[in-house]
Amino acid sequence: MQKSDRKPKFLKDYAPPDYLIEEVALDVALAPKAARVASKLRIRPNPKVATGGKPLVLDGEDLTLESLTLDGKALSPGDYEVKDGSLTIKRVPARPFTLEAFTTCDPEANTELSGLYLSRGTYCTQCEPEGFRRITYFLDRPDVLAVYTVRIEAERDAAPVLLSNGNPVARGDIPGTNRHFATWHDPFPKPSYLFALVGGNLAAVPDEFVTASGRKVALTIYVEPGKQDRCAWAMESLKRSMRWDEERFGREYDLDVFNIVAVSDFNMGAMENKGLNIFNDKLVLARPDTASDGDYVSIESVIAHEYFHNWTGDRVTCRDWFQLCLKEGLTVFRDQEFTGDTRSGAVERIGAVRILKSNQFPEDAGPLAHPVRPPSFIEINNFYTATVYEKGAEVCRMLQTLLGREGFRKGLDLYFERHDGEAVTVEDFVDAMADVSGRDLKQFMRWYTQAGTPELACSLDYDAHAKTARLTVSQIIPPTPGQAKKEPMLIPLKVGLIGANGDELPLTLADGTPLVDGLLEVTEREQVFEFRDIPAPPTPSLLRNFSAPVRLSTNLDPGQIEFLMAHDSDPFNRWQAAQTYATNLLTDGARDGGNIERVTGKEAARLAQALAVTSRDSSLLTAYRAEFLKLPGEADIARELSRNVDTDAVHGAREALRKKIGEEIRETLTELYEANADSGPYSPDPESAGRRAVRNAALDLLVATGDTSEIARAERHYRDATNMTDSIAALAILSHVQAPVRDKALDHFYARWQDEPLVLDKWFAVQARAASSSSVETVRTLLSHPKFSLKNPNRVRAVIGSFIHGNPTAFNRPDGAGYRLLAEQAIEIDGFNPHMAARLLGAFESWRILEPIRQARAKSVLQDLAARTLSTDSYEIVTKTLGEG
Ligand SMILES: [Zn+2]
Repeated sequence: MQKSDRKPKFLKDYAPPDYLIEEVALDVALAPKAARVASKLRIRPNPKVATGGKPLVLDGEDLTLESLTLDGKALSPGDYEVKDGSLTIKRVPARPFTLEAFTTCDPEANTELSGLYLSRGTYCTQCEPEGFRRITYFLDRPDVLAVYTVRIEAERDAAPVLLSNGNPVARGDIPGTNRHFATWHDPFPKPSYLFALVGGNLAAVPDEFVTASGRKVALTIYVEPGKQDRCAWAMESLKRSMRWDEERFGREYDLDVFNIVAVSDFNMGAMENKGLNIFNDKLVLARPDTASDGDYVSIESVIAHEYFHNWTGDRVTCRDWFQLCLKEGLTVFRDQEFTGDTRSGAVERIGAVRILKSNQFPEDAGPLAHPVRPPSFIEINNFYTATVYEKGAEVCRMLQTLLGREGFRKGLDLYFERHDGEAVTVEDFVDAMADVSGRDLKQFMRWYTQAGTPELACSLDYDAHAKTARLTVSQIIPPTPGQAKKEPMLIPLKVGLIGANGDELPLTLADGTPLVDGLLEVTEREQVFEFRDIPAPPTPSLLRNFSAPVRLSTNLDPGQIEFLMAHDSDPFNRWQAAQTYATNLLTDGARDGGNIERVTGKEAARLAQALAVTSRDSSLLTAYRAEFLKLPGEADIARELSRNVDTDAVHGAREALRKKIGEEIRETLTELYEANADSGPYSPDPESAGRRAVRNAALDLLVATGDTSEIARAERHYRDATNMTDSIAALAILSHVQAPVRDKALDHFYARWQDEPLVLDKWFAVQARAASSSSVETVRTLLSHPKFSLKNPNRVRAVIGSFIHGNPTAFNRPDGAGYRLLAEQAIEIDGFNPHMAARLLGAFESWRILEPIRQARAKSVLQDLAARTLSTDSYEIVTKTLGEG
């Protein structure tokens, strides 16, 4: 590994490049061990920088340099230096010049899956953030934008398909050989991280899209031969995304072709390379018998996400990697809006908030906390975080809430108009929003610079004499590493007041102004909002639609929360009320010396009855009703406890409440199970998927009773399943049951799906997530299974990822066996795929909230890790997690 420097880089040190590269011509001859890359770069001194004959320093990693010429003249080794991941040419002209480099790299040996590598015989690339330097020497930074022409050459039999960015311009055979070539040209200037190239024996699934202005775009999805019958959903999702972006944001596609390639070895979900998206095949391939409803939803949203990047990321890109949220936060926000418009806004919001709270809140509260725009990093690969993505999306959503849908759209239009073809900053984005709205957004910028989840405390007091209701709001932003003191944020707080009969009360502020949409703007550390003409004590509904990414505390009593569960007209808050009620019982039940009776007693019974009422309410969407039957997860409960967490107590409390609910409303659950049975062939539409979700959630609670007749029902559910959704739901439920039916079902599933990697991942994942006293041993058995490989990221995530994130009671086993298992595996993976290892090690982020024995175990494993020779990626995570970085 050539990365030797572990010094942090700082946003404040940003300097524009000394040189610009305007044109790139690449000629790539694919071969497994030595791919030859001839690059011809048109370079000029940056007119905005006093370059004054400075040396030209290009990035390069794991390359073999064969030759170098400048304006056609060969350079001798004395003219340049190759060292520490860079190529320095000591003297270059002070005018535009052409640099030609001839290098080779080894795709077969590329186990980092960054740069050019082979995935099951297919050549593919991953260049974000710094993979292009593993293909050729370059100014590998996002503010160097060039126009690319790429010629690819390969053996015709091994790689009949040759793809790159942009439009195809030529292809043909190379006479007298068994080789052929293809040439691609991308007219849009782009940074090197958006470069892509693919060569392989792939099957094409073609289609077509006609843009709003009537241009025809050829769409193709490329997959392993034999998998063409699993592309229909991805293609349909792509076409709907293209239409939606035209209608909602006025963004039209700009090339003649749009290609998607699915590969099986991929570190991430997918990559938005201009005109040539490369996907983890998990997020493309779907057929009713192999993919669940959840898979269908993920495919739809990730296809949309990568497509939307064409404007937010590709046409307007980031100046530097500190601005990553500029493209990711905004594009996640756009894909969430797409899913909300396509399916149900409330269900989408609930899903997004669940992810935010379970992934981002712990990050914000732990040693790895960083602002949405981090001020420094050691390894940029470690900053593809929930904070940058999910909180980044919330920041965009708050802007839309403050400016209104139309105002936000205008701001985005202005942003594209001003910056098309540029590499820009968060300030440029927020300035466009400020300019269209005439608002001062200086205070709002703190969302990008201050880490930590603001804590918003709200209390409502009613004055019967004056007929006023006073809402007192205070905000505290907790200290985070490197940021002890915080300034107050601008927090959009959506509220409503509900009368005793369940009606919404009109809101009028003390000065007589009506409050449109119930939107308050909190700007001070403490603020009071007074509403007048309130005839009787109301129940407040606060933070409607989760209008800001904050932790809310209120002075509501259980009766008021129960009232909101039944009457809140804001669907998100109605669901949130049920979650809050359950969370309060669960945290009490799981607290040290806690009261387990609370989760089995009268209040639990009241919760169960309220859930029964909502889940039976046929005026509500089925997918929405299903959300009520899913209790807060163990990690959610741990997060709310926030200290001295005993993960076994959390698990115990949650299991007890599930059992109680199952027993209490067994009749309703049985009814829901029976009434929502599928009839006819599988369809992934939201209504059908919602029915399956209600049915499977009801089954889960019924089996939680432990009753043998319910276990038998689950067994039948597995046996009669006609699609993967039901099949895997039943298998997951049975995997928690300590009875022979468990092994029978698992064996059956394996026998049926052992040759289907993506389905087999589910078999691995279900077992790694099943909580039992022998989970660690089960996971060890899975790791030595002949079908397991540490080299395939999807399988690693299925086993190790599911265990560390989906089985908290086993991962946090008091003897530290779970921690040791993760450390051992991460060390091994770190040797060949550091990004992957560092990601897994992130699971230690919440070790400080645990009770002392587990804390000590985790700390000693972390200290042992820190004492080893790790990659830069893992080193950064481990030392920061320990708090010694
Ligand atoms: Zn993205």
